[in-house]
Amino acid sequence: MRILVTGGAGFLGSHLIDRLMAQGHEVVCLDNFYTGTKRNILKWLDNPYFELIRHDITEPIRLEVDQIYHLACPASPIHYQYNPVKTIKTNVIGTMNMLGLAKRVKARFFLASTSEVYGDPDVHPQTEDYRGNVNCIGIRSCYDEGKRVAETLSFDYHRQNGVDIRVVRIFNTYGPRMLENDGRVVSNFIAQALRNQPLTVYGDGSQTRSFCYVSDLVEGFIRLMNSDKIGPMNLGNPGEYTILELAEKIQNMINPGAEIIFKPLPEDDPKQRQPDITRAKTWLGWEPTVPLDQGLELTVKDFRDRIEGNQK
Ligand code: NAD
Ligand code: UDP
Repeated sequence: MRILVTGGAGFLGSHLIDRLMAQGHEVVCLDNFYTGTKRNILKWLDNPYFELIRHDITEPIRLEVDQIYHLACPASPIHYQYNPVKTIKTNVIGTMNMLGLAKRVKARFFLASTSEVYGDPDVHPQTEDYRGNVNCIGIRSCYDEGKRVAETLSFDYHRQNGVDIRVVRIFNTYGPRMLENDGRVVSNFIAQALRNQPLTVYGDGSQTRSFCYVSDLVEGFIRLMNSDKIGPMNLGNPGEYTILELAEKIQNMINPGAEIIFKPLPEDDPKQRQPDITRAKTWLGWEPTVPLDQGLELTVKDFRDRIEGNQK
């Protein structure tokens, strides 16, 4: 198949491309390199079955493809809040352009949505039928309301135009190739501990998150895309940790002497988050297989290579 991956030079997109190329597909990677980098896809650049297009999805594009994995959108709060209006355009106009493409060429369309559609949830763990608690005028709204509209657009294109859609709601995912300055918690703590800087816990660190290793997530993507279910479907690892527990884990793993300091909690920061993955288990037989300690070891190795490599 010829498969388009938007945001393919980013963290999740590049891991997905590795799997699709290994399966023998032709892959078209479309990215504007806002948070993505050529380094992530370097090994495919000379492969005749791989094509890289520098393009911003807020502009339309014509391509012939069989499937579209739509991942283009900055995912870390510091990056999506840097230019919030652009984040909304990417989620709304960009998603509309990609759905328009799917409609025209009759491609199956996969939307990378997010657990952020549940906002600061008052149902725990979160099931797909929970409708969320989202602030529509806060600093996270460009992202979480943007993704909610992206889901709405997907279901409307499906009902109105018969576009074949798949929608996943991704919970916090980590792994090699996250940017060192990404601003997300796992990458921040690892980079800080390796550089002998204090680990910055926001608030008192009692807020929780559930961390999924990237290879587990990508397996779920491919299974849903090739199933007959449209979703929405939660994908994530139900193991839930406080942010302070995560900081201590990474501190012990890398640098027991590293300091942990406390910084103000950002506005609208969700207090707890854990996916209910019953749907993924029953529909796809999917569940995560990589425990947090093992996934962190693999991630630390990648960061160590990059950070210590850069210092030479
Ligand atoms: P990332 O920032 O590493 O990747 C996003 C990619 O999209 C980058 O390569 C970036 O350059 C590209 N991009 C951004 N705006 C674009 C535009 N207008 N046109 C073309 N390309 C554009 O983030 P990621 O972690 O790989 O996330 C990928 C997708 O998964 C995003 O849609 C994100 O919302 C979703 N998601 C990720 C997580 C997570 O924990 N990683 C959680 C929930 C949802
Ligand atoms: N966080 C933290 N220190 C950091 C970065 C993030 O304590 O250096 C906290 C953040 O406030 C949030 C959690 O870690 O409670 C997860 O943050 P991230 O940005 O990774 O993801 P999201 O908030 O989008 O789930």
